[in-house]
Amino acid sequence: MLNVPPQAFPAPSSQQRAAAGGRAKVPLKPGRSLMDWIRLTKSGKDMTGLKGRLIEVTEDELAKHNKKEDCWICIRGFVYNVTPYMEYHPGGEDELMKAAGTDGTDLFDQVHRWVNYESMLKECLVGRMAVKPITAPKEITSVSEEKKQLNGMLPKKKVLCTSSKDLTPSYDWFQTDSLITIAVYTKQKGMNADLVILDCEDKRLRGEIIVDDYSYLLEVDLSHAVQEDVAVNIAEKVGKVEIILKKKDNVHWKILGQPLENHNTFMKRTDRGLFYRKCKLVSKTEVTHDTKLFCLLLPESTHLRVPTGQHVYLKQIIAGTEVVKPYTPVLPFLPLDFQEPSCHDSAHIYLMIKIYPRGLFTQALDHLQIGDYISVSSPEGSFKKSQVQTSEELFLLAAGTGFTPMVKLLNFALTEVNCLRTVKLIFFNRTEDDILWRNQLEQLALKDERFEVQFILSQPVRDWVGKQGMISSSLLSEFVKRSRKDSKVLICICGPTPFTEQGVQYLKDLGYSQEEVHPFTA
Ligand code: FAD
Ligand code: NAD
Repeated sequence: MLNVPPQAFPAPSSQQRAAAGGRAKVPLKPGRSLMDWIRLTKSGKDMTGLKGRLIEVTEDELAKHNKKEDCWICIRGFVYNVTPYMEYHPGGEDELMKAAGTDGTDLFDQVHRWVNYESMLKECLVGRMAVKPITAPKEITSVSEEKKQLNGMLPKKKVLCTSSKDLTPSYDWFQTDSLITIAVYTKQKGMNADLVILDCEDKRLRGEIIVDDYSYLLEVDLSHAVQEDVAVNIAEKVGKVEIILKKKDNVHWKILGQPLENHNTFMKRTDRGLFYRKCKLVSKTEVTHDTKLFCLLLPESTHLRVPTGQHVYLKQIIAGTEVVKPYTPVLPFLPLDFQEPSCHDSAHIYLMIKIYPRGLFTQALDHLQIGDYISVSSPEGSFKKSQVQTSEELFLLAAGTGFTPMVKLLNFALTEVNCLRTVKLIFFNRTEDDILWRNQLEQLALKDERFEVQFILSQPVRDWVGKQGMISSSLLSEFVKRSRKDSKVLICICGPTPFTEQGVQYLKDLGYSQEEVHPFTA
C-alpha cells in the first residue's frame, strides 16, 4: 500500500529541511523546489556568466559580488555564483546574503554543514580562491561559563535546547591509589560503546556521550597527568558509562580538574562543533585502479567507534585553506563467516577512497606518506541500526564509492539481524574495473544464501554479459521487489547525488514509503 506523506516542501527528511538547522524557513515561490533547481542546473543555462570557464578569484573580486542580483560566496576555497540560487534557498535570500562576497564556510557549517553544496551548486562554480578570503561574521556566539573547580560534587548542569531536564545526564568521580573513575549516569537504556567518544591528550579530557539526537560533554583540564591508555566500561541496562583513567603518579587528587568551556553541557548533536583528533596513516593499499584502502590509527588515548551507516570528516590544510571532506569507514575486508559477530578492531579506521585525477582533497590525501598524520572528526550521520533490525528484506543500491556505507551495513545485517530473509546489493559502476571488492562480494554470495549481488555497468567495455544502464524505474521494478506483499522492506541508497535523488524518486513512484527508503547523504 502506498504510504506517501502529504505533499510538503522541503520533505521532512530532505537535505533542504535539515539544512535550515531548526531555523525558520521562508516559503519558496512555486517552481522553486530542489527538483526545479536540479532541472534548471541541467538545462544547460550558463549559471556563472563565465560560459563554463573556471577562474581564480581574488579577495577583492569576491567582495565586489555582494548584491542579491550579483552574489558570489566562497565555501571551502571554492567560489560560487549563487545569484540564480537565491530564490531556491530554503533558508531565504537574506540568510544567503549574510555571506555575500565573503567566505561563508563558517556560516555554512553552523547551519547546514552536511549539505552536498558541491553537487547542488556544481553549475554555479566560478573557480578557486587565489588566497584565503575574509570570513563572514559568526552568528552563534559561544556561551561563556563561570569557571568552577570540580570537587567531586555534582555541579549545576548547562542544559541547552532540551525540553525535558530529566533526560540530562549527570556525573560523579572517585579514585583509588592508581585509578580515576568518572561515572556518567545517562539515564538511557541500551547505552553502548558506539555512543561514547573519548579523547585525552596532555591532561585535557574530552568525553562525549550520545543520547539519541543529543550530546552530553565532559571537558576538563585534569588536575594531574594520566597514562595514555583509557578504558570505557558500560552498564548497558542502567545506562552508566565509566571512564577509567590510570594515574601517572600515585598521588591523591583533591579535584578532578578545571572545567573547560563546554564542560557538562547537553545539547543537540548538530549544534556541537566537530571535534578532530590526529590519526596516523599506517597503510594504503590498492582496491582498484583509482581507489585505495587507507588505514588510520587512532591515538591510544582515544575511544571512538564509527557506527554502521555513519561517516567521519577528514581535515587537511590545502594551499593554506582548511579543507574538510566526509568519508564513510569500512571494514578491512568483507567477513565471509557471518555466524559469529565479528570482533571489533577499535584502534583503526579503514577508509576506501577514490582518488580523482583533479580532486582537491583526494590528491592531497594520496600524497600522504605512511606515518603522516591527518585530522579525523567524530562520527556523524542519521542512519539508525533499528531501521534494519525490523526488516525482513534489505535492498542496497550503491553507485561507485557509494558502496562504502554498505560494507558495515552488510556485515551488521548478515551477522546480527535474525529476521532478515534476503539481502540484495545492486551495485552500479562505470566499468568492470571500477567494481570495488567484486571477488569478495561474489564469494559472499556463494557462501551465504541470504545474500545476492547484481552488478550494473553504465559504460561496459569488451564482453560484459551482465546488466547495463543507469538507475531507472524499470531497472528498480525488476530488482527491488517484495517477495511477499506484506514484507517489511528497507532500501538503502548511496552514490552520486543525482543517482541518489533519482533513486529516491523512482522508489517513491514505485510505491515505497519514506520510512522504507534511506538515502545516505552528508
Ligand atoms: P573535488 O576536488 O571535489 O572534485 C570532485 C570531482 O570534480 C572530481 O571528479 C574531480 O576530478 C573533478 N574536478 C576537480 N577539480 C576540477 C576542475 N578544476 N575542473 C573540472 N573538474 C574538476 N568518497 C570516497 O571515495 N569514499 C568514501 O567513503 C566517501 N564517503 C562519503 C561520505 C559522504 C557522507 C559524502 C557526502 C561523500 C563521501 N565521499 C566519499 C566523497 C568525498 O567526500 C569527496 O567528495 C571525494 O573524495 C572527492 O573529493 P576531492 O576534493 O578529491 O574532489
Ligand atoms: P562514478 O562517477 O564512477 O559513477 C558510478 C555510477 O553511478 C555510474 O556507473 C552510474 O551508474 C551512476 N551515476 C553516476 N552519475 C550519475 C548521474 N548523474 N545520474 C545517475 N546515475 C549516475 O561514481 P564515483 O566517482 O565513485 O562517485 C561516488 C559518489 O558517491 C560520490 O559523489 C560520493 O560523494 C558519493 N558518496 C556518498 C556517500 C554518502 O553520502 N554517505 C558515501 C560514499 C560516496
